[in-house]
Amino acid sequence: MTELATSRPGGETTDSDWSAAVAAIRELAPTGRVLLICHVNPDGDALGSMLGFALGLRRLGVTRLQATFPGAFEVPEPFVELPGVDLLVPESEVWPDPDLVITFDAAASSRLGDLAGRLARARATVVLDHHASNAGFGGINLVDPQAAATSVVAEELLARLDVPLDPQIAECLYVALATDTGSFKFDMTTPRVHEMAARLIATGLRPGEISRRTFDTRPFGAVKLFAEVLARAELEPAAAAGHGLVWTYVTQDDLARHGQRAYVMDALIDPVRTVAEADVAVLIKETGDRTWAVSLRSKGAVDVSAVAVALGGGGHRLAAGYTGHGTPAEVVAGVRELVEQHLLPQG
Ligand code: 5GP
Ligand code: MN
Repeated sequence: MTELATSRPGGETTDSDWSAAVAAIRELAPTGRVLLICHVNPDGDALGSMLGFALGLRRLGVTRLQATFPGAFEVPEPFVELPGVDLLVPESEVWPDPDLVITFDAAASSRLGDLAGRLARARATVVLDHHASNAGFGGINLVDPQAAATSVVAEELLARLDVPLDPQIAECLYVALATDTGSFKFDMTTPRVHEMAARLIATGLRPGEISRRTFDTRPFGAVKLFAEVLARAELEPAAAAGHGLVWTYVTQDDLARHGQRAYVMDALIDPVRTVAEADVAVLIKETGDRTWAVSLRSKGAVDVSAVAVALGGGGHRLAAGYTGHGTPAEVVAGVRELVEQHLLPQG
């Protein structure tokens, strides 16, 4: 199997990386156990790229197939109708020794939680990702920091495996692409992104219905929760060298009072980052005792990926996250100090 693991960790993805991935899948997938893993607390790109690829493997005739993510087995409501969700298994049911492991949208093996150990046991591992901070933790690494979403990488690999797009695969890849481009609004929305969207929509997708279900639907209780969390937001105009910072937090108690599940917190960063007076937006989401999943966003003045990396996390230049500890005020104090050190050149 050594010839299947030729990828240079951390280097640019080359033709030989793509060939190695195709060879590993063609050799191991027809008869072996194939395990697909996406990152903890999965978003639309993690689940969409993984399930779209899973459906493609199923089309190739692969039958011993599991798709999973670490932690509590709760599929966020916006994704419960994604094609291929029937392939998802909880962490507790994952094969201990799969033959082939393929990961999606995970910038580091730490994002795979306790499932990271499955990589060492597999005969081959393929990492599909688009985070610049990805150092290449797989045997074969398909990491394209220019790709707007991991589903861009997944679509390319499916094409190289001669799997045609069908409406189910396309819907998964579309949800992923729409998620990571902010519904085709962010700067990375290149002609290549729209060309891919056109290919996907041409299979018969209904973008209006998909985006309403995925992005624009939430329970009434979540709307009331959003109101409360936004009402306690604080604006610090002098922070980030005068570019401004806005922050707020949401606790497990808030969720319980409004009868909401944890996934609803993920969409809360979007109204927070609309604040005109702040370049940096910080949402502090309680996940355990004095433990918080922290979302960071910038409009261009600050490299929040560098801030997150300094705090043990990662992400993209303008969208990143990490795990914080202490009170919300203590968490934001750490961020406030670091944003001053990671200003981006303006102009
Ligand atoms: P979000 O704030 O939407 O959870 O995440 C924004 C970006 O930061 C995503 O690309 C996500 O993968 C990354 N990210 C969020 N939290 C973490 C973390 O704890 N560690 C790492 N390495 N990346 C994170
Ligand atoms: Mn992504």
